[in-house]
Parts: sequence; C-alpha cells; structure tokens
Amino acid sequence: MEHVNSYYAASANRHEPWPQLTEDIRCDVCVVGGGYTGLSTALFLVEAGFDVVLLEASRIGFGASGRNGGQIVNSYSRDIDVIEARYGQDTARMLGSMMFEGGDIIRSRIEQYGIDCDFRPGGIFAALNPRQLHELESQKANWERYGHRQLELLDERRVREEIGTEAYVGALLDHRGGHIHPLNLALGEAEAIRKLGGRIFEQSAVTQIQYGDPAVAKTAGGSVTANFLVLAGNAYLGNLEPKLAAKAMPCGTQIVTTEPLSEEQAASLIPRHYCVEDCNYLLDYYRLTGDNRLLYGGGVVYGARDPDDIERLVMPKLLKTFPQLKGVKVDYRWSGNFLLTLSRLPQFGRLESNVYYMQGYSGHGVTCTHLAGRLLSEVLKGQAERFDAFARLPHLPFFGGRRFQVPFTAMGAVYYSLRDKLGV
Ligand SMILES: Cc1cc2nc3c(=O)[nH]c(=O)nc-3n(C[C@H](O)[C@H](O)[C@H](O)COP(=O)(O)OP(=O)(O)OC[C@H]3O[C@@H](n4cnc5c(N)ncnc54)[C@H](O)[C@@H]3O)c2cc1C
Repeated sequence: MEHVNSYYAASANRHEPWPQLTEDIRCDVCVVGGGYTGLSTALFLVEAGFDVVLLEASRIGFGASGRNGGQIVNSYSRDIDVIEARYGQDTARMLGSMMFEGGDIIRSRIEQYGIDCDFRPGGIFAALNPRQLHELESQKANWERYGHRQLELLDERRVREEIGTEAYVGALLDHRGGHIHPLNLALGEAEAIRKLGGRIFEQSAVTQIQYGDPAVAKTAGGSVTANFLVLAGNAYLGNLEPKLAAKAMPCGTQIVTTEPLSEEQAASLIPRHYCVEDCNYLLDYYRLTGDNRLLYGGGVVYGARDPDDIERLVMPKLLKTFPQLKGVKVDYRWSGNFLLTLSRLPQFGRLESNVYYMQGYSGHGVTCTHLAGRLLSEVLKGQAERFDAFARLPHLPFFGGRRFQVPFTAMGAVYYSLRDKLGV
C-alpha cells in the first residue's frame, strides 16, 4: 500500500523507495514497523554498530508517524503527578528524568542529519475554561520540579496575541515544544539509517513470527533470521501478536488542511507559528504548515474505522475556533490510527528474552517513540535499567476484552467530554 492522500504525502521530500524483501537474510536485529518507534530504534542501533534490518508493511511513515499533527509534545499522555500518585516516587523519578528527552532527540536528529522537515519551535496548551487553566498551572509546577523551566503561562490577553481566537481563557506556552512535517522527519531518519548501512525493506509485511534463538520474521517474499526482534507496529500491527493486541486499542483521529492562506491571514491566526492543542479529553490540535496552510485535527473514532466524512467531523471544530475562516477551501483530509492504553502510558516489554515491543503512546507519541528507540538500543548494549522502568508498569487489558473495548472506551470518552463541555 502507498501513503494516504495527505498534505504530507503531497509535500514529501523526494526520496528513493526501498526494495521489497525477496530472500532469506540474517542480521543482529530485525525491527518490524517503519514509524518513529522502528526508525528511532534502527537508527540508534546502526549508530552503535549493530547490523539492522527494518521491515515495513507499506511505506516508511505509512502509519501514524507519517500522518500526525506534527506536534512535539513533551512528557507523556499521563502527566508526572499521576505517575507519582499511582506508581510511587522511584518510578516517577525514573520516568520524570526522561520526560523531555524525546524532543531533544528529535531536535538533534534534525541537526545531525540535516533533515529538512519545517521545524518550528514553541507549542501552546490552550485552556477553554478556568478548570483547565488551573490544571495547566499545576502542570507547569510539575514540569519545573523535573527541571523543565522553558514554560510561560499566558493570561487571556496574552493568549489572544498568540492565537487569533476568543476561545481560550489562558494557556501554557512550552518554548521547548514545537512542530515538524512528520513524514519528512520519518523519511529523513530512514535516509540516515540507509547512509549508516542499515537495510530497509518496504511493502514487506511480517506475516508470521517464529520465536526462538535466533527468531525469524517471515514475509510473503522472504524471511529475516535475527538474534533480536523488535515489534514496532503500534496501532497498525493488527493481530500479528495477539498478546499485544489485547493490551491496547486502536483509535482513529482526523485532520484537514486548508488551501494556503495569505501571509497576512496566517499571521492573524498564529503570528509566531506556534502549534496549539486544547486541553479537552477529545482534543483539537492545529498549526500552520511550512506553506501557511492551517492544519487542523480533532475528533476520535474508537475502533479506528475510517470516518466517512472527515470534513463534516473536523470543519465545525475549526470554524468554532476560527469563525473568520468561514468559506476557506479544504485541500486535504485524512485520518490515522494511534494506540490507546488504559493507563495512557506507553507499553514497553519483552515477549521472549530476545523479542521486544514498544507501543501505546495514547495519542502523544512523537517524542516518546524517539525515547523508546534510545532505550531499546541501551538494552541491547547491556543497560536495561531505563527500559525496565517502563516495562515494570502494569499493562492492564481493556475491561471486557477486545470485543467490548469500543463501547466501554467510548463510554469513558462521553463522560470526559461531558466534563469538558460543562467546564467542571
Ligand atoms: C492523525 C494523528 C495525529 C497525531 N498527532 C500527534 C501529534 O501531533 N503529536 C504527538 O505527539 N502524537 C501524535 N499522534 C500520535 C503519534 O503519531 C504516534 O504515537 C506515533 O507516530 C506512533 O509511532 P509508531 O512508530 O509507534 O507507529 P506508526 O507510526 O503507526 O508505525 C507503525 C508502522 O508499522 C507498520 N507495520 C504494522 N504491522 C506490520 C507488520 N506486520 N510488518 C511490517 N510492518 C508493519 C505499519 O505499516 C506502520 O508504518 C497522532 C496520531 C495520529 C493518528
């Protein structure tokens, strides 16, 4: 399969496609999945001198990594105060010490490998009501306790200077956040792997895993025999490994991109080109692209069906935020799947002593996927402490098993979005 018809695919940097696997080969580490989790893992490992093969079912960046909002959001989908309360001080200290590392990895990758992906610094969390603003004040205090001080609270007047809408009562500006063209970041990382001698195969879905030492990943056209196997298929892994499918739920979210706006119009919406997400449970997220389009995402479809009419779902949200854009033309619309876990914390672990997985970033994975790759490379170099801080977190199955995941999770979403609407 090819990339979905998105703004990103239409503006992707030119690149040579990678070949399909047509033979039986060997390597040290076989990575399954060509999104950020797989690419970050493969890149850290080739840098460390491992012989790496990455197998991608479709194209590099075909999944969430090539379709997302492009927002470099620091920390995890559950914030550190919840981690402290639920899992104790030791776990919180370990996870807290890593919560800003993913964004740093992205910035250094862009610089080190000269990746052209429209990076712009600065991300805003926007509060729609006083309760959300109060939560942002706590978030600021929490992040500062873990050493992240590049944060600025914006009152109602200041937030209106940064975003051309009256929707918000205040905001938190993270100067260490920012945004990128996500597919071009993925393609740039794949190119770096190629330059360092890693082997990538596209259109090479793994259809069967033979566990053992070595392990074997089989595709329709060949196989990879490897000392270590890393499963990085996230929401697109399907049922290849039922134990992983049972732990988390694919959810779809959708994005539209307008026609290019005039310089003046773009500046009236977000003059400093920050990216924005609101604080609702089912949140809206948006930003300007490198060529001044408004890229706006929102809405969640549980069970990850493709919504029939993306524009019908997203445009009312966009126009509620920016009524002045009434009549604007939409050039692109697409959806993509992320993987939700019950705790909203990522799931890292081992299926066998030589088979690893990392998944379930619960909607905020751009940074944590990059951290995941570094942690896995540390494990294979003999340092498992940081990976195991995540692996020790309990992985709760969705209540009622897979068949009932959708209704129960949707019920939870209805509860939280009602709270958001009432502002309580
Ligand atoms: C629309 C959307 C907007 C988002 N916006 C943001 C955002 O702004 N900020 C943020 O932090 N997060 C965002 N996210 C979440 C973020 O994109 C993901 O958490 C992250 O990209 C996950 O990366 P991944 O590599 O684990 O998975 P993916 O990028 O989904 O990659 C998995 C890859 O594995 C491949 N694969 C699956 N099965 C096999 C197999 N059997 N054999 C070979 N290959 C296989 C797939 O084809 C796919 O390419 C968003 C997600 C979506 C869908």
